[in-house]
Amino acid sequence: MRLPICLFDAKTGILCPKCEGKFKSGHLTKTDVDLSIKLSGLQVKIPELDKTTLLHALEVDGDLALVMGKGDHDILRKNHRVFRNLEKEVGRKIWVVEGETSDRQVLEDIFFPIKILMVNVVWLPDGSKLTKVIVPGRKTKRFPLDLERAKSVVKAIRGIDLIVEFERS
Ligand SMILES: [Zn+2]
Repeated sequence: MRLPICLFDAKTGILCPKCEGKFKSGHLTKTDVDLSIKLSGLQVKIPELDKTTLLHALEVDGDLALVMGKGDHDILRKNHRVFRNLEKEVGRKIWVVEGETSDRQVLEDIFFPIKILMVNVVWLPDGSKLTKVIVPGRKTKRFPLDLERAKSVVKAIRGIDLIVEFERS
């Protein structure tokens, strides 16, 4: 597994001078370090982690957003068993997105397993913009996503101001 800190640091829980420097200069956060140590320790229980790259970890309203390498959403999020284990072991609600990809892809990753019907950018008179996601069908009680939380995560990861509408009201 690739992590924002050295593998050795993650295994021992002690940062080397180089990583310590990145931490002090703000290039690494405490969440990056803590989650690197945590995930490194989970590789035996969740071997799928071995093939993934953690770029950055953010804490959003108590949840954890993992910004990962290319293809890692498929490995960690789309595999129901792996994802359930990961959330159980970390003890938090987890959101997985990929770092080097489009806004649209990040939104699709956040909304998974809900499919997005359409994404529109809405410009406001003051020049700021909102991103509107339209979800198929109508909102039911069984809708699996916490939309307010999803909005906070998207804002924290990509700076996107999100509004969500359902196709039918
Ligand atoms: Zn290091």
